[in-house]
Amino acid sequence: MRISLVAANWKMNGNRAFAERFFTDLELGDVSADVVVCPPFPYLSQAAQAAEKKGSFKVGGQNLSHEPDGAFTGEVSARMLLDCDARYVIVGHSERRGLYGETSELVAKKFVAAQAANLIPILCVGETLQERDQGRTLEVVASQLQAVKAVIEEKAWECSVVAYEPVWAIGTGKTASPEEAQNVHKFIRTQMGDVGLTVRILYGGSVKSANASALFAQADIDGALVGGASLDAKEFAGVCRAAV
Ligand code: PEP
Repeated sequence: MRISLVAANWKMNGNRAFAERFFTDLELGDVSADVVVCPPFPYLSQAAQAAEKKGSFKVGGQNLSHEPDGAFTGEVSARMLLDCDARYVIVGHSERRGLYGETSELVAKKFVAAQAANLIPILCVGETLQERDQGRTLEVVASQLQAVKAVIEEKAWECSVVAYEPVWAIGTGKTASPEEAQNVHKFIRTQMGDVGLTVRILYGGSVKSANASALFAQADIDGALVGGASLDAKEFAGVCRAAV
């Protein structure tokens, strides 16, 4: 039995006052899913304080360095995230891969660095529109997973979350149909071997309260990674409520 998980990715949005309001407005009373909020780094401690007060969600980073410390200006290590009481960290988001040139090999190192510090990585995988049109979705996803498989023991998947995020669906208002997403999720599960059955696989790409239930009804969709809709506390809570 996998407990659903819904994660908010604020990306580079918000400010101190926004965060204050968001956490005041976030009502998760009747939600059975695990909930994670990933704000920009400067608001992590603020988010962690709210998380402790409310007890209804955990906090995560949006990225981390694969290095433990040293002369890496602008980077943030797994230990630093832990110091801010983060429990999760997103690795390999398509914006990191696409805009900042993160390769699957680098993403795999970040995955390992996160786990080494007892953070739970939320590994993002997914194809671009061009790759989808070429019929290469499963090939692309398999190769992104393979880079991680090459550097971990199969058992390590147990302490991770995978997010299938078709790049063409992120921030575009387009979503994969529940059936399309289910096919890819099922494929991802088989790629992780026996432990795949216990790993939570989230869907990401324009999820909102209006389309969440249909996605969550699929057997292998265990929750969502939510971008735009996570900037509105009530809308985000609606997505969380749809996850049973
Ligand atoms: C994301 O940033 O991971 C994401 C899925 O964004 P959106 O929900 O806005 O498509």
